[in-house]
Parts: sequence; structure tokens; C-alpha cells
Amino acid sequence: MDNEMTLSFIAISENEGLARMVMTSFIASLDPTIDELGEFKTIVSEAVTNAIIHGYDEDGEGIVTIRAKRNGQTITMTISDEGRGIPNIEQAMEPLYTSKPESERSGMGFTIMESFADHLAVWSEPQKGTAITFTK
Ligand code: ATP
Ligand code: MG
Repeated sequence: MDNEMTLSFIAISENEGLARMVMTSFIASLDPTIDELGEFKTIVSEAVTNAIIHGYDEDGEGIVTIRAKRNGQTITMTISDEGRGIPNIEQAMEPLYTSKPESERSGMGFTIMESFADHLAVWSEPQKGTAITFTK
């Protein structure tokens, strides 16, 4: 059955678990394998973590929104923030690129998201925010 939902929460790491839980429940009707479920959770975690630590610099105030749709067997999700934005998307998506090497980031978030999603698109504008849309 087709379905649609929106979840918004403040950008604190405590809410990563909430986002994973809600998304797990949303895709449950697709009867995913354990592997597929793990991949969905990883994509959502990576995107939400990026919004919290990069988008809002962990200010604890910004809002992260996840929109999810199910059309037949396909899930489309958008994870968005209204934070600092990404000045150079191409560079940000390169494996191992991170703007926060000092906080022991490995710069692999986008690479992991791309490898698990069937299709992934990034919209971002400095000072406006970032939105990651993927289908799987
Ligand atoms: P890792 O995910 O391995 O911990 P990382 O978060 O730095 O490290 P990516 O997730 O690949 O690596 O992101 C690459 C870079 O893109 C980040 O270092 C950051 O500069 C930028 N970025 C990603 N998401 C956002 C966002 N929501 N807002 C602003 N900048 C972002
Ligand atoms: Mg990351």
C-alpha cells in the first residue's frame, strides 16, 4: 500500500535513534531483509548525523526533517536541514573528504549513503540548508 509521512525533530544526537526507529517501522510493510533494513538505517543515520554535526554545528536548536514515501516497492526519503549548507557538493561527496578532520570524522558518510541507495541526490545552498533525497 502506498504511504507517506513526515518527521521533524531538534538536531540532537539523542534523536538519531528516534529517526532510525520510525524509519524502520515505516518500511516494515515492505518486508525488507535484515541486510536491507541495515542499509536503510545506515543511510538515515549518516544523513541525520551530518545535519546535526555539520548543518547545525551541534547547536542543539536546528530542526531536521525526514519525509518518506512508499510507492509500490520503492521508498523515497528526504532528510533535510536549514543549516549552514555545503559550499562545494562535489568535493563534499568525494571519499575521505571531511571538513572536520579534527573531530575524527572519516569523510565516508556520502560514499556509504551512495553505495547503499539505488539513487541519491544532494541539494544544498550555503546558509539555507541541505537536503539528501534517496530511493531504495
Ligand atoms: P563521516 O560521515 O565519515 O563521519 P563526514 O561527515 O565529514 O565524516 P561525509 O558524511 O561524507 O563525511 O560528509 C562530507 C562533508 O560534507 C562533511 O565533512 C561536511 O563538510 C559536508 N556536509 C555533509 N552533510 C552536511 C550538511 N547537512 N550540512 C553541511 N555540510 C554537510
Ligand atoms: Mg558524515
